[in-house]
Amino acid sequence: MSGRNSPVAAYLGLGGNLGDPAAAMATALRRLDAHAAITVAAVSSLYRTPPWGKTDQPDFLNAVARLDTHLAPRALLEALLAVERGLDRVRGERWGPRPIDLDILLHGTATVAEPGLSVPHPRMLERAFVLLPLAEIAPDLRVAGAAIAAHAARVDASGVVRLPGGGDWWRKKQG
Ligand code: ATP
Ligand code: CA
Ligand code: CA
Repeated sequence: MSGRNSPVAAYLGLGGNLGDPAAAMATALRRLDAHAAITVAAVSSLYRTPPWGKTDQPDFLNAVARLDTHLAPRALLEALLAVERGLDRVRGERWGPRPIDLDILLHGTATVAEPGLSVPHPRMLERAFVLLPLAEIAPDLRVAGAAIAAHAARVDASGVVRLPGGGDWWRKKQG
């Protein structure tokens, strides 16, 4: 970690539905953890989830992680996009199939509304594939006036399956 200030807790959404998404997500977390200004502090279980937005594609695997980071939101986004590129993510159609997707859900209490960066992630409260794993690692975190656990209880979670094995999957998985 660099700098004297305390790090900010940022929440990262991970997903993928092409190739071996669990391996790609594990590699992404290990590469982020190796970054001097990022520590992977907590990781949810893996979840198998139905595709969102564009439904004629394979199921996704999703997870959420807490990153303790000294990077500002824009610098963190650049780091995430670099990891995506390193895992052969090619920008295709919006919400279409991809080997890896890394989204900033939250960055401390920051609000960012700039071209190419919106934080909190504007669609996170509609998405069971975000809220269920996030509720696993941060149930009491308050967003938009309610705890994540309460948001998660309100969303349609049909088809979302939490896989066994807990939050250590990314340390073991090769990819
Ligand atoms: P969604 O944002 O609905 O989850 P997506 O993840 O499929 O869609 P991408 O094609 O991965 O969208 O990303 C498009 C652009 O979104 C990125 O290049 C990035 O500049 C921008 N973006 C805006 N806000 C965020 C954020 N909070 N986290 C990640 N990318 C973001
Ligand atoms: Ca996304
Ligand atoms: Ca994305």
